[in-house]
Amino acid sequence: MSLSGKTAIVTGSNSGIGLGIARELAKDGANVVLNSFTDRDEDHALAEEIGKEFGVTARYIQADMSNGEDCRALIEKAGSCDVLVNNAGIQHVAPIDEFPVDKWNAIIAINLSSAFHTTAAALPMMRKAGWGRVINIASAHGLVASPFKSAYVSAKHGIVGMTKVVAVETAQEPITANAICPGYVLTPLVEAQIPDTMKQYNMTRDEVVKNVLLDRQPSKEFATVEQLGGVATFLCSPAADQITGTTISVDGGWTAL
Ligand code: NAD
Repeated sequence: MSLSGKTAIVTGSNSGIGLGIARELAKDGANVVLNSFTDRDEDHALAEEIGKEFGVTARYIQADMSNGEDCRALIEKAGSCDVLVNNAGIQHVAPIDEFPVDKWNAIIAINLSSAFHTTAAALPMMRKAGWGRVINIASAHGLVASPFKSAYVSAKHGIVGMTKVVAVETAQEPITANAICPGYVLTPLVEAQIPDTMKQYNMTRDEVVKNVLLDRQPSKEFATVEQLGGVATFLCSPAADQITGTTISVDGGWTAL
């Protein structure tokens, strides 16, 4: 229970990787704040379940990560923030000359600018508490490119850069900032891009999974949300005190190729 008494805010955590990370941090004793842009009973119920399961305080705070004021309000409403996991993200797949401008703007806002706003609001709280962890969920696409993902690849490379800046600005404080770069994890975000990719390449679902999604993942296995939660928990442990400004790939060897 090494995170006992600490508050972890995970953006975009009513599903997928964010939820998996929130659960692992709660398992390690952290009080967790879940978030998404919706405000449904099931969102609050999810937090209640985590609270009961792990004996921690778990809350759900609605905030739209495409809106800078909402991002900052999320941190203020939480009241304290020892661990900030910038995870909210969306995807859209299209060739750059056909890429819809509204999708470009939304991806940059949610996948990149939100982390600027939440980090700006959270750092003073971490400084006051004398300890902090910023964990940005980037992607293998924060390190290498793929076709048809101009906004996503740009946002993820951007968040890797911002991670380094936060790390050097906090280097002499008990605060670290790192980015986790997952390869493919089978979450709703990945599920949602399968139909478009099937059309794009004229392939069946199985062919897309094997030949497109996992084509560049040498392990030929999806990473799991529990594994990503485990890496986040490790980054919060004393063993990671001197790990800052770097990326940790969880991609089955993708970026080693
Ligand atoms: P997901 O769709 O399951 O989860 C995305 C989360 O973000 C959801 O909780 C959703 O509600 C939330 N969200 C979306 N728009 C939001 C907004 N405007 N405001 C607040 N919350 C919002 O997807 P996921 O696969 O779990 O992705 C989580 C993160 O991991 C993303 O940043 C994604 O880019 C990254 N990632 C995913 C994979 C993968 O293979 N799944 C790989 C690398 C990186």
